[in-house]
Formats: sequence, structure tokens, C-alpha cells
Amino acid sequence: MQIILYAIPGFFILMALELAIDLKRKTGYYRLNDAIASLSIGMLSRVVTVIKTLIPLSIYGILVEDVAVYSWPDSWLFWVGAFVLYDFLYYWNHRLGHEMSVLWAAHVVHHSSEEYNLTTALRQTSGSVLNWLFFIPLAFLGIPLELMLSIAALNLVYQFWVHTRHVGRLGILDGILVTPSNHRVHHAQNDIYIDKNYGGVFIIWDRMFGTFQPELDEQPPIYGIRTPLRSWNPIWSNWHVYRQLISDSRATVHWRDKLKVWFGRTGWRPDDVLAKLPPKKPFNPDTFSKFDVSLSFTTKGYALLQLALAICLTLSLLTQFTVMSFIEQLFACLALVVTLSALGGILENKSWAFSGEVFKWFMVLAMSVLLPVEAWAQWSIIGLLLTSLLWLGTRRGDPIDA
Ligand SMILES: [Zn+2]
Ligand SMILES: [Zn+2]
Repeated sequence: MQIILYAIPGFFILMALELAIDLKRKTGYYRLNDAIASLSIGMLSRVVTVIKTLIPLSIYGILVEDVAVYSWPDSWLFWVGAFVLYDFLYYWNHRLGHEMSVLWAAHVVHHSSEEYNLTTALRQTSGSVLNWLFFIPLAFLGIPLELMLSIAALNLVYQFWVHTRHVGRLGILDGILVTPSNHRVHHAQNDIYIDKNYGGVFIIWDRMFGTFQPELDEQPPIYGIRTPLRSWNPIWSNWHVYRQLISDSRATVHWRDKLKVWFGRTGWRPDDVLAKLPPKKPFNPDTFSKFDVSLSFTTKGYALLQLALAICLTLSLLTQFTVMSFIEQLFACLALVVTLSALGGILENKSWAFSGEVFKWFMVLAMSVLLPVEAWAQWSIIGLLLTSLLWLGTRRGDPIDA
């Protein structure tokens, strides 16, 4: 877990570098609203993951202590073997994350962007509940919890750099590792690219199990998902497929189908539900257009200010979580959820965006004063809140400034 926290400054440096290249080459791979949404989703996921993995990690620790059938020697060979084994299990976790509805409901978040840049890498789920089960074999093999966590973090950190369109083909590396070219295919919704290239670090698993597809010059990837999210709200991005599954399983009259909605192949829907609620228009690469909401220059500036506030809030929570009580942790999470939802409201030009800001303002102020937040974070948050207040005080029209 700490590895990811230490990697965060590196992520921001690389994103700034990619943005600079993007502006210099005039490629337009960055859009402000999409990038802010990706960062919001990433912040929510980091904080939620710290809380929700406590139980699975405890179970893993107990299994290693009491049920492990093997005790591996402590050597670098052991470490490398565990790293490769983890990546093999990651491949199957990721593959089923696309092929089974209940797992797709969580993983869809990562694919919901219609852009592809380093911020997309941070679009991680907050809603996964079953993923940890895929890595239980490592506990039975006696791989210690600390080692498994370090490997998982390294695997995730590796995947950051492949989310870019500024690195082309890499020759022989494209045949061994997951590279930007290989992973662009994975994020594309063109027919030929769907359900391909599931690897985390090594692409060899896809080559072994028939899911490998190289990037083709004649098929430029179209990024995104077949049922578009059409929102910048991080809560909705985590919830929209779950809501569809709940709705379908309630609507069907057959008990078997109620279960199959969740554990069947992604996209499968019962016949009686399809008759009542027909699917939306199928994907057409020729008519595809990206979701967008136009905002004034001032609103964009205000949104950036709120992004800075959300980043301060998240970093202060991640560094102080261990000294907070459970109630304080919950309150802190709620403040972050409100902050990120309000930011989504600004980006979507919602009629409630201004009231959302006022509610958020008081909530974050209360959090920064009442919770054990470090001094640097407290002053930064209060400074940003006062700047926001001045901004809102000079607003004209709707919802933030018109
Ligand atoms: Zn995926
Ligand atoms: Zn990805």
C-alpha cells in the first residue's frame, strides 16, 4: 500500500510531462473535464480501498499462518516466482472482470473514459468486492501478506505508464510485456479489440490463452465502453452497471435468470427484460461521438481550484488514516464523496452545482477543523476554501458563473 502512496508524486510528474508533450504536439489527448473525472475516481478509489481491504487482508493473513501448504524459501528467486504467479492470477481476475457481469460492474470504471492518457490509469474502481478471492491461492502457497501486498502494488504501479498514446510500438517488447500499444487495444471498443489483452505486466498470458491482439494501423482505437457513462460523477461511474444489474434482476420473473444476470456473461439480459426494456442503439464506430459539456473559462478555473482542494483532502486522509478512529474515517470519506460529487456537478453544469458547493464548503471546513489533519493540509484546505468563497461571491448567473 505504501508503495502506491510513494509513487503518487511520480504519477503527477509523468502526467505533467505527458500534458506538456500533448500541448507541444497539439495532439489533444487531454480534456480538462475527462482528466478531472479520472483523477476524482482515482482519489475515491484510493481512500475506499484503504478501508475496504482490511477484512480480506486479515483473512489472507490467517490463511498464510494457519492453512498454507508450503513454506517458500526467502530468496530473490522466490520473489520473482511470486511476482510472475501474481501476474498469472491477475490475468484471470482481469479476464473474468470483463466476462462476468458482477465483476464487470466493478471493473467498468477503469474503461469509462473516452480518452486515453496517464490520468486514465488512475480511474480505478471503488466498488470491487470479489477481486481478492482470485489471489487466495498465493496464501495457500505460503506467500507472506507483506510480500503479496508489495507485488500487488508493483504490478499496479507498472501499469501506470502504459496508459499513453505518446509511445508507439516497441518491437520485441510488445510480444513479452504489456506495453502502451498492447494496452491501447485493451481500452478500445472496436469489434476487433473487444475483450483482448488482459495482462497486467506480461502479455504472454494473452498469447497462451488466445486473447492477444496487436494494434492495427487500419483500426485506430476508439476508447470507451459500449454503454457510455456520459457523466463526470465518480459515484455514478462506480454505480451505473450495478444499478442496471439490480434493475434487470428485479424485472425478470425467472429465479434462474435473476442469478444469471449477476453471474452470467457480461451484457447478457433475460428475454422477458429485453422485451420490456429494449437495449439502446448498438455501437457504431462511424457515428460515435465523445461525451462533453461545454463550460466557460471561469468555471474551468473554478473546477481546477476544487480539484486542488480534493487532492489536499485525499493526501491528508491517506497520511492520517491510521491515527483516526473509525467514525472519523467515515466522516472523512463522506467529506471526500461530497467534494468529488460536487465537482462532478460543476463539470456537468448541473442546476444544483451551486448548492452542492455551499454544502461541500461547510462539510470540508468542519472536517479540516475537527479531524486530526496535519498542519500543512489544514492551512492548504482553509486557504483553498477561502479562495473558493471569494470566487463564489463574485459569481454571476448560473450555476457557478455562467
Ligand atoms: Zn480491463
Ligand atoms: Zn488500463
